[in-house]
Amino acid sequence: MNTQLLINGNFSNGLGNMFQVINPANESILAELTGANAEQVDQAVASAQKAFQLWKNQSDEDIKEIFNKICKALKDEKDEIAELITLEQGKPFQLAQFEVEAGISWIQFIADIAIPVETLQEPNGKKIEVYNRPLGVVASITPWNWPFMIAIWHLFPALKAKNTVVNKPSEYTPLSTIKLVEIMNNFLPAGVCNIVLGTGETGKILTEHKNIAKVTFTGSTATGQRILKNSVDSLKSVVLELGGNDVGIMLPDADIEKAVQGIFSSAFLNMGQTCAALKRLYVHEDIYDDVVGRLADLATSQKIGDGMAPNTTFGPVQNQAQYLKIKKMIVAAVQQGAKVIEPESEIPSTGYFILPTILTHVNESMDIVSDEQFGPVLPVLKFSNAEDVVQLTNNSEFGLGGSVWSRDLKKAHDLAAKMDTGTVWINSHSDLSPAVPFGGWKKSGLGYSFGLDGLLLFTQKQAIHISE
Ligand code: NAD
Repeated sequence: MNTQLLINGNFSNGLGNMFQVINPANESILAELTGANAEQVDQAVASAQKAFQLWKNQSDEDIKEIFNKICKALKDEKDEIAELITLEQGKPFQLAQFEVEAGISWIQFIADIAIPVETLQEPNGKKIEVYNRPLGVVASITPWNWPFMIAIWHLFPALKAKNTVVNKPSEYTPLSTIKLVEIMNNFLPAGVCNIVLGTGETGKILTEHKNIAKVTFTGSTATGQRILKNSVDSLKSVVLELGGNDVGIMLPDADIEKAVQGIFSSAFLNMGQTCAALKRLYVHEDIYDDVVGRLADLATSQKIGDGMAPNTTFGPVQNQAQYLKIKKMIVAAVQQGAKVIEPESEIPSTGYFILPTILTHVNESMDIVSDEQFGPVLPVLKFSNAEDVVQLTNNSEFGLGGSVWSRDLKKAHDLAAKMDTGTVWINSHSDLSPAVPFGGWKKSGLGYSFGLDGLLLFTQKQAIHISE
């Protein structure tokens, strides 16, 4: 297992601060790492700058071929990577395998997208060509919830658009990203994709670096705001994928069995640590008790434990700070009158385990409803009028996603169109596609990822006017 920085195609030891990677299932130390100091961040950016001079002229065919080779190598090491993800992140092994497979199919999709060139003909005969040119060196800062997949979401569009990159993974989950970048470096020219390690301090040094042309960031709103503020002096472009507080609205005519399954799968996906997970559920009063009962049954059916143990379907929360934050939110909600429904399952005595928890008797004055919990607890609220609920939930400062659950697709669509969120799902939640732009409104983000729109945010326009 490599635990070093990878700069200009070479592994090197960090010279900055030490930090530990902890297995959240048993709190054991998986690795002790040394982060990059400012000079090493500088070296990484310099190597990416140098590599950019060649990479920006790489042909589309060559890039496609390199991406395909990387996909094959990742497939060959799928289970080793999935194990690293489970060990550092906590998710069940099958979900980690899904993370690797989904990441690979994302790369394959990006490999096939064509970056367009627009040609215009003016009435006087002048021809104008509009190209999408690369930006330069992109800094990528990734979080701890889907570490491997989100690194792919950042790195491959940047490289496809002929930029070079320096990634800093989360200090909580760097191992699977180091592995990814190591495999990528077996096929990419030296310096095209670099990785530096460290805490937020290293991220700050990297994102503030004067030779970074663009920052792509996935993480908390607070950090995203800091990055945006710090981009002003050098006028870097910034894409931010931030927190969310996605609402689900379940109408009385929903297919209850199917909907409850879909809602549970989204709300508790990755133990609730998914940006686009359903985080507050509004259920029509006519079906409320039935829905709460079914959600509780699904919670009871989970097998809780270490993600590497066979049959585990529900792992720990990724880190202690997040564990304590969620516990505190639950206690505060209970003090304000919430009722807890949790399975009677045994949980291991060590590790950051929280049972899949349903909360009833909740309201919008509670943080567990109005703020992002980012963990395995779902507040369920009762409503009588769907239009009113949409209005009410639009008051959120977040605007990532939302869903409507109903058999009446016309009605669901009408409500969906009124939701102030970048994505709305009808009868599902959290599904993402590499072809479809994904981005948050309000404090959930800036710009888009995925699809041609997301890819083009790694480029800048160049118009060439051609007169005879
Ligand atoms: P975080 O903001 O604490 O950390 C994210 C990354 O930023 C880490 O690599 C961290 O080291 C780095 N960082 C911290 N301070 C920095 C600074 N000043 N400058 C530069 N980098 C810095 O977020 P987190 O706790 O790792 O992730 C959880 C949050 O991410 C949740 O709010 C979640 O909703 C959000 N998230 C959003 C999406 C999305 O696509 N919208 C996806 C995943 C997670």
